[in-house]
Amino acid sequence: MTTTVIRNAEWVTAWDETAAQHHYRRHVDIAFTNDTITFVGRSYYGLADQVIEGRDRLVLPGLIDIHSHPEHEPLYRGVREELGVRNMHMTGLYERSQAFSAPDEEARAASAEFAYCELLLSGVTSLVDISPAWNGWIDLFAKSGLRGFLAPGFASARWRLENDFELKFEWDEARGREGLATALALIDRATRHPSGRLSGVVSPMQIENCTAGLLRDSRDAARERGIPFTVHIAQSVCEVQEIIRRHGKTPVQWAHEVGILGPGTILGHALFLDTHSWVRWWTRTDLALIAGSGSSVAHCPTPFARYGQVMENFGDYLRAGVNMGIGTDTTPHNLVEEMRKTAVLARIAAGDIETITSSDLLHAATIGGATALMREDLGRIAPGRKADLVLVDLTVPQMRPVRDPLRSFIFHAADRAVRDVFVDGRQVVAEGKVLMLDQLDAADRLASAQHRMLEAAPRRDYLGRTAE
Ligand SMILES: [Zn+2]
Repeated sequence: MTTTVIRNAEWVTAWDETAAQHHYRRHVDIAFTNDTITFVGRSYYGLADQVIEGRDRLVLPGLIDIHSHPEHEPLYRGVREELGVRNMHMTGLYERSQAFSAPDEEARAASAEFAYCELLLSGVTSLVDISPAWNGWIDLFAKSGLRGFLAPGFASARWRLENDFELKFEWDEARGREGLATALALIDRATRHPSGRLSGVVSPMQIENCTAGLLRDSRDAARERGIPFTVHIAQSVCEVQEIIRRHGKTPVQWAHEVGILGPGTILGHALFLDTHSWVRWWTRTDLALIAGSGSSVAHCPTPFARYGQVMENFGDYLRAGVNMGIGTDTTPHNLVEEMRKTAVLARIAAGDIETITSSDLLHAATIGGATALMREDLGRIAPGRKADLVLVDLTVPQMRPVRDPLRSFIFHAADRAVRDVFVDGRQVVAEGKVLMLDQLDAADRLASAQHRMLEAAPRRDYLGRTAE
């Protein structure tokens, strides 16, 4: 047994069980034994193996990122930020995924290690990693010290482009079935990992790339295991049009009919609902269907914002009763930047500053994520909960003056102020440095992996173009 005490923390966003919300507390001690918080309050008198000075620190619950693709996204740095297709309602998703992907296992390992470092340095302690199954994934994740929800992706079809205006599909249901079996085997192996920090999410990749049968069986497999289920849905106008063409319903309505909505279902993005100004479908039932089913939404503003697209809007989803979480779909893997963008874009979309507050943001990045993952033990600083904690340095210039430290953190300092991070009571970031991984070494390997990816692009692109 090892007990650590953070002594006299200047500010803490502690969990108020009765009010069911985070609230500021000043000058309190936080003690944790092994992986569990045992004390939050004035004057801890118990024994301690390690004492951490809490002066000049804001202590936050570890942030929960419910949507990411570390296996390839860092490979796109400098490649993808301005790549979109006007004839596809601005999205560059389809063109990109046909032309560029991780070229080999070494590239995947470099990309994932690099992303895990960015995530830890922005205060993420729990991560949903949606990637194709690759060798070494479980070991690297365990080594990172993060709490891992591995989500091996699979599908019945792949996107195919022959031009820049029509999205086509290559169906292969046997491949999808094999992918589901591989994913479940990997999830079961991760769950048995001795670290006890790993589990899984069943992840058929995209609603338009899966048969109803594969979606239902995936959902059942998740239910049997008591783990979440996730799928990309309503992430592009092309996808909405395709599902309406096939079924006469929006993607959310079709998902409801197939029976995959409900608690434990995380909808990747759910941005282009029937009410969205780029869709304007007549039904206007999508938001109520999501809310009524108890499904969660993983909101990742950055990739959409780069295409000129925004959710309309985050505040309305909250008020409709949807459980909202936040993710980092693309690089940079910086959850605090995603929180800031969530606020700014929601206010622009609503034309209303009151549509969302900084407490809504912290709630989404902690409790929203924990609820989506069906993990009441995460995302809150209270006795009996997991010791996943972030210590923010109040002395860095971007945090000062420290009038409302959460606002300083979200709107000004972000990852620059993250000093120390604990996951399961174990320190994984110290003095702003990742302890278990090597970001600079990963950056070197990432650079050569990107070179190999770009070399392969002309053979993959439908027009044989280079990245230039
Ligand atoms: Zn995604």
